[in-house]
Amino acid sequence: MLYEISEKAIQLQNQGKEIIKFNLGDPDLPTPPAIVEAAYEAMKQGKTKYSSAAGEKALREELAVIHGVSADNVVVTTGSKWAVFSSLFLLLKRGENVVVPSPHWTSYELAAKKLGVETRFLKSDLGSNWKVDPEKLEALIDDNTRLIILNSPNNPTSKVIDSKTFAEIVQIAQSKGVTVLSDEVYSDISFVKADSILDYGKSNILVSGFSKAFLMTGWRIGYVVVEKELAKRMIKLNQITTTCVPAFIQYGALKGLETRKQIADDIRRTFKLRADAAYSVLSKSKMQFSRPDAPFYLFPKVDGLDSERFALDLLDRGVAVAPGTAFGDYREYFRIALTVGEDKIKEGLEKLCEALP
Ligand code: PMP
Repeated sequence: MLYEISEKAIQLQNQGKEIIKFNLGDPDLPTPPAIVEAAYEAMKQGKTKYSSAAGEKALREELAVIHGVSADNVVVTTGSKWAVFSSLFLLLKRGENVVVPSPHWTSYELAAKKLGVETRFLKSDLGSNWKVDPEKLEALIDDNTRLIILNSPNNPTSKVIDSKTFAEIVQIAQSKGVTVLSDEVYSDISFVKADSILDYGKSNILVSGFSKAFLMTGWRIGYVVVEKELAKRMIKLNQITTTCVPAFIQYGALKGLETRKQIADDIRRTFKLRADAAYSVLSKSKMQFSRPDAPFYLFPKVDGLDSERFALDLLDRGVAVAPGTAFGDYREYFRIALTVGEDKIKEGLEKLCEALP
């Protein structure tokens, strides 16, 4: 359905219609120029050949310093999406299962499905302010559970898992011998402090990347922090699949790390204003929603809404959103990605409110 919306939005744009696109998690802000310059400079210096399947030494070392691990624990991947897929590929066998708090980023489920792995969803809802319930999570684990996937801040709710809950989940995973894969792609730009899986030792999997926190979605660069043995297996998998992330892209990313805090502050500032602009419109409507803990997404609910129908109809009014069904069993919800400027946010959300049944 996400694909259908996206295609229809493009079709309408090609017909000359203006579409305010809230449907994709691709921030409109440009990649910081210093990153672009550093990548260009690296290209000019000949960093255009095959390179290490583990990632450039300098980048791995810098990421290791940031995360308080050794460079041997870091593997650079083709986006964090590949980091997720290769973790699942290496750790799970057909017939096993993975537990995922929902709503969730669909790729976890789709990757698991491709591998013949069952995904067990732990539903949360707006009524509890998207609280993930550790007891219910524990009840989903059985002898075939290998992995729990956490995503805090979450896509699509922009909610952070509080420290107590995070600690309880890690504790449950440990006691059951299950690995936690923590997808922290939105952590650096979170409005509130988000726990990292690395706060709880180094035996789990951290997935992160540059797409969101460095505005580098199209560059395709992410990474994992894992135990050394698993790192070696991931490097091998890179060797036989993607070969390497192009070295010049890694030098762009490395440049970004130099001003990591500054870039994150700028993103936060912009998206806080956007969230406030959205809030001022939405709070006058009958939508229910909670304030985001992180940039990019709002996930409002309208009682009785069929969000797939709504999203399709809304396109004819010039606004694209993602229906809640793209993130699990959430038909009454839809996701708004605040990836346009404040004026467009207000205009788009006003149209959206008018279209509500
Ligand atoms: N994790 C989550 C939760 C995401 O929302 C996304 C992108 N939408 C990704 C990972 C993928 O990011 P990347 O571009 O690094 O593959």
